[in-house]
Order: sequence, then C-alpha cells, then structure tokens
Amino acid sequence: MRYQAREVDIEGRVRLVMEGALTARDRVGVQDFVLLENYNSEAAFIENLRRRFRENLIYTYIGSVLVSMNPYKELEIYSKQQMDRYRGVSFYEISPHIYALSDNTYRAMRTERKDQCILISGESGAGKTEASKKILLYYAVTCPTNDHMAALGDRLLQSNPVLEAFGNAKTLRNDNSSRFGKYMDVQFDFRGAPVGGHILNYLLEKSRVVHQNHGERNFHIFYQLLDGGEDDQLNTLNLERNPQNYRYLVKGNCPRVSSISDKNNWKVVMKALPVIGFTEEEVQKLLNIIASVLHLGNTQFGEGEEGETYITTEISNLARLLGVDGSALREALTHKKLTAKGEEVIIFSSSLLRFSVVRCTCFYWAVFMFMQMITPLNFEQAEAARDALAKAVYGRTFTWLVEKINQSLALKDEIYHSSKGSSVIGLLDIYGFEVLQHNSFEQFCINYCNEKLQQLFIELTLRSEQEEYETEGIAWETVQYFDNKIICDLIEEKHKGIISILDEECLRPGETCDVSFLEKLEDTVGGHPHFVTHKLANGKTRRVMSREEFRLLHYAGEVNYNVNGFLDKNNDLLNRNLKEVMCQSDNQILSHCFRREEVIDQKRPEMAATQFKNSLMKLTEILRSKEPSYVRCIKPNDAKQPGRFDEVLVRHQVKYLGLMENLRVRRAGFAYRRRFEAFLQRYKPLCPETWPNWHGRLADGVLTLVKHLGYKDEEYKLGRSKIFIRFPKTLFNTEDALEA
Ligand code: ATP
Ligand code: MG
Repeated sequence: MRYQAREVDIEGRVRLVMEGALTARDRVGVQDFVLLENYNSEAAFIENLRRRFRENLIYTYIGSVLVSMNPYKELEIYSKQQMDRYRGVSFYEISPHIYALSDNTYRAMRTERKDQCILISGESGAGKTEASKKILLYYAVTCPTNDHMAALGDRLLQSNPVLEAFGNAKTLRNDNSSRFGKYMDVQFDFRGAPVGGHILNYLLEKSRVVHQNHGERNFHIFYQLLDGGEDDQLNTLNLERNPQNYRYLVKGNCPRVSSISDKNNWKVVMKALPVIGFTEEEVQKLLNIIASVLHLGNTQFGEGEEGETYITTEISNLARLLGVDGSALREALTHKKLTAKGEEVIIFSSSLLRFSVVRCTCFYWAVFMFMQMITPLNFEQAEAARDALAKAVYGRTFTWLVEKINQSLALKDEIYHSSKGSSVIGLLDIYGFEVLQHNSFEQFCINYCNEKLQQLFIELTLRSEQEEYETEGIAWETVQYFDNKIICDLIEEKHKGIISILDEECLRPGETCDVSFLEKLEDTVGGHPHFVTHKLANGKTRRVMSREEFRLLHYAGEVNYNVNGFLDKNNDLLNRNLKEVMCQSDNQILSHCFRREEVIDQKRPEMAATQFKNSLMKLTEILRSKEPSYVRCIKPNDAKQPGRFDEVLVRHQVKYLGLMENLRVRRAGFAYRRRFEAFLQRYKPLCPETWPNWHGRLADGVLTLVKHLGYKDEEYKLGRSKIFIRFPKTLFNTEDALEA
C-alpha cells in the first residue's frame, strides 16, 4: 500500500509532499513535528495531525511544546497506571502525553530548583481547562504527600468545580466555556510535596450576567441553584425552579444543556465549598447574592407622564437578599447622583432635576465642599443602571470568591517556614485568540492578551534555543521570525496606543461616543501598517468595512472590531448612589466587595482596558521569571463530535497558535537533539565498536557510532553533552536500521 499527500505550493502547483510505502510511521505520523521532512509545509503539518488523530494519538510534540487535539470522547489514557508509566521517564522515550509534560516540568523544578510555568492556549473548546485539570490531578496523585498535604491537594482540586460554576457558561463553542482567564501557582516544598496555591483571575465576561446570545447560557451557578437547590432553600430565596421565569436566564433560550447535569454539579459545588473553607453563613450569603442577581433581572421600570421612571415590581425581596434598605435601593435604581467637588453648581428647578442637601466632608487636612445633584434617570438609563449593578455584584463576588479560595490555599505559617527552598509551578489557562462574527471590546482585550503571550513565547523560545546552543558550544544560526512588538505597541503604547486613546476618549469632557473614539483612532494611528478602517489613504472609502469598525492585523490574522459599546465597557461605571447603597449592605460579602472608601475617594479608578493591560504586564513578568513549557490545544471540529477532523478549522488554529512559526524556530538549525548517553544507549547495537558497551568518553562513542553509520559532516554536530542532527531523514534511517 502506498501513501501520498499533496499540497498546493505558492505558485498554485500541486505537488507531492510525502510519498512512500505505508509504514507504521506513515500511519501514525511522527510524534514530534521537528521530524517532518518538509517542516515549512503547513499541509504536511496538518496531515501529521490528522493521521495521529485518526489513531487516537491526540498528543504530538514540537520539541518541548505539546500539541493537544481535543478527542471529544473519553480515552483510556489518564489512569493511575498511565501516570506511573510517565513518572521519571524522559520526554522522548515514551509517546507524547500531558503527563510527560507534567512530569518533566516537575522534575525540572526539583532538579534545577527553578520555578516553572505551563502555558496552555487554544481557542474556545480546544481543551485548555481539561488539560490544566489533568496536570493538577497528576501532581495530586503522584507527588509525595502527608495528611496535611492531601487536604491541600483536595482543596486545590475542589476549587475547580466552584470556579467553574461561577466563571463558566455554555456557549455556542463550548458547553463548559471558561469566561475568565486563570493563572494558578502551585507551591511545592523541598521534598516536592504540594504545600500551597494561589490563583490570579483575569477579565471575567461580566456582560454575560445580563445578556446571552441565542443558544448560550448565563453562568452555570444560576441553573445549578434552580435545579439542585432544596425546596426550602429556594423558598427562602423566593425563587422558582423554572429558569424561564428569570429575564437574565431567558435571553439565549437555552435553559438546559444535554451534556450538563446542573443538579449533580450543584451537589458537587455544595460539597466543595466547605472543603475550601466556606462557613455555612458564607454559603448562605453567597446564595443570597446569586438569587439577588436573578431578582434584579426581573426588576422592571415604568415611565411617568413627565418622563420620570419608577419601579413597577416588588423590590423588598431584592433589598432583603442584598441586605440593603429598600427605599434607598429604589431611589438609587431610578436616580443618579452627581457630585461636584469644590465648585458651585448652578441650581435650577425642573421636574427632572432636584437637588439634595449640600454636605460637608472633613478630611484630615482639608475640607472639601461636595454639592450633590440628584437627577432622575430615564427608562433606558434605569435599565442600564440595574444591569450595571447586576454585573458589579456578580463580578465583585467572583473576585471575592477567588480571594477566599486563595486564603484556603495559602501556605500556612508553620509550613511556610519549613518550606524554604520550595519552588512553584504556574499553570496558565487563558482565552485563545478569538475571531467571532461580531468582535467587540472583549475580543479586543483577549486578542491583545494573545499578542502579549506570543511576544513572550517567541522571546523565551529563542532565548532557550540560543542558550542551549551556547551551553553546547554550537554556533547560533540567526532565525528569521515575525516580531509582533509592533502590534503590541500599537495597542498599549503610552499616549499613542489604542488603549490610551480609548481612556482619553472616556475622560474627555463633552460629547464623546464610540464613533468619536474611532475618529480619534483614525487621526492618531490611521497610518499604522497594522491598523485599517473604512477610510483609505486617498480619502476614499473602503466599501467592505462598516463605518463603526476598525481592523487590526494581528500576528495570527485580521480581526474587525466594532466600536459600539467600547466606551461604556471601558468606563464600567456604576452610579455613585448605587455604590453608596451597596457599601451599607449587611451581607458581609457585599460590604467587602463595595468599600466605603470607593465612595469617598474622588479619584477615578483605572479603566477596564488599562486595568487589563496592567494585569497582563504583571502576568508577563511572572511568566518571564519562570521556565516555561507550552501546551497548544486544538479542536478538531465545531460540532463537538468525536472522530471528525475539519481541516479548514484545524488549519486556522495552526495559524492562530503560531505553530508553523514555532516549528521553524525550533527547526532553524537542527531537527533533533539528544543527550550522548541516550543516543548511545539506543543505537549502540548498530556498531560493533559500541556494542555491547562503550568504555571511553561518551562523545567519542557517539562519534564512532555515527562514523560507522556513515553520517556526513553536514548532517550532525556534537555539542558538549548532546548530538544535534540536522535532518529527520538521518534519524529515520538510523531508526530503520535498528528495526531491521
Ligand atoms: P474555553 O476557552 O471555552 O474555556 P477550553 O479550551 O477550556 O475552552 P475545555 O472546556 O477544556 O475547553 O474542553 C471542552 C470540552 O472538550 C470538554 O468539556 C470535554 O468534553 C472535551 N475535552 C477536552 N479535552 C478532552 C480530553 N483530553 N479528553 C476528552 N474530552 C476532552
Ligand atoms: Mg476553559
């Protein structure tokens, strides 16, 4: 049987890229892409993925990077026996696996005493969260432990269902989509036992609390509570079981998901909370908050004859659950309070404007005069204020939840002191590059994050390649690659970048709107080679683009962003009087989330994009200080089905993940490298002088062996401890000789 693979080259000619008898290698592909003969060919890359996927071989390496295909079915490859197979075994001696990467990282941390991190990326549904759970489970099962540490491992594992309940949702692309980015440090003591953990969370998609696209759901926790909560629990919260009764749950018209049991998951979450250290009272307060968001969604407004807005639904229950005063809440949901500091505000009267008391507030060193102006909200404004409150309550509660989990995972004092010399493995499970039909502020932030990570990836991969060549004493050959710094600068540069311009537009007095932001962008970065709008340089209009869009030419491809909502989302404002009401809540979680200082402090908090930018800067610093490993996840089809390999979809992801670039950098000089002893051990039977044992220097043994095998000088180089082989064919011939 013969096998052929074809590709279309840049001149449009179809040519063969692989041909030969169907050997085992042909059938299952190569387990490391660096061994592909034609490493510049995307077609050969994808063909290799396809063959391995067909054989249920979902893992493949690019050097030390693990590429993982989502099988969309349970494979028998994650058992305890499998974990044992991978313990202490070198990366290349056994088939690629997430356990091999976990084990290698762990051993590198132990032997080199250097902090490690594992960066998991891929688009929604590609298997990032599953991969991170498998890594955690591997450590929980295989690392040395005692009772205390077992309890910590338990808490680490139990934090997952809780975070998923509050931070994940069913989307069109993934039934269990993480709607936040997560970086988790696991801390190990000098014996290699896990002793602590810490989570950083990034940009929760709060807009989902009040709106979901068709076929999508709100965060899982709402449905879990309604389906799984006890009758008397629901009675106390004044909730009915049917999700269709809640406006925040009906937008996507998707109350149930066949692959999810909300009832069972509720039980899991309720069991997990006390393990993580939540008291009964805290759980009750948390339930009150979940219920209050649902009641908030059902709060409706009416419009009076003079345009004033009033609440038409019962509010006492909502106020009780939020732990706030009902009439204050009613007032705050329908009025806005503006404060002018140290200035006189011209007072005039109309049915729509009413002024309240002038209040003096004393500070230690100065006295400011605050004049507070209360204006009624119109109908749309009141709805927006209600939704803003729901998003703020949910978003801040999520942050509190992460803090609470962190307290439970924190190193206890006595362990802290006994764990000197400990090291950390960080796990990053963060949103991949996103291109939707309609891309907004969220996609802008997500794709910016991917630009930053790509920049770091190239920097670190090149650095480690270069370092290895230096330690091995081999001349470094310069690699051509695309440096995406130019795009990062376009987005993040101070005063000139898109984020700065967005902030300025949000702060600028007078009439600003999303379109004025776009105009400002055109004026400032219009000539940038990675920025495009409908305006052409010659003053004409680009027809294919709408006037509300700008396009960024990302490293992974082009994305059009619609500016509608950019200003509001970046501002992320909650009316001052709503904050005032909330910080008086007798629900301790809420009074912790809404601080009095926030109301007193006149300084405007950082805007959303800048906050995100700063948190990304910190993240890249954390990652830069560690030794990185990478898992690149790919999903085979959009239908979430096993056995289907959609080539177009896979090709997109190979591109977005920068895998070809990765392979090129890795293959720049040599396809393959192996330590002398491992190389000798494997191939010594091929040479009478090295068989059965070589007694001289390892390097001499390898040299004797390769001379005997007829390697030409240009095919290999000997470093200080490793042999570097330039072409895969050389290695394959050697392997074939071994099999013969
Ligand atoms: P998102 O960015 O939306 O959070 P994700 O990359 O985290 O997506 P996962 O939630 O990890 O995606 O995976 C989506 C689904 O794919 C899982 O719920 C599971 O059904 C399936 N899946 C992923 N990886 C595996 C695996 N290794 N084995 C079996 N099924 C898997
Ligand atoms: Mg996920």
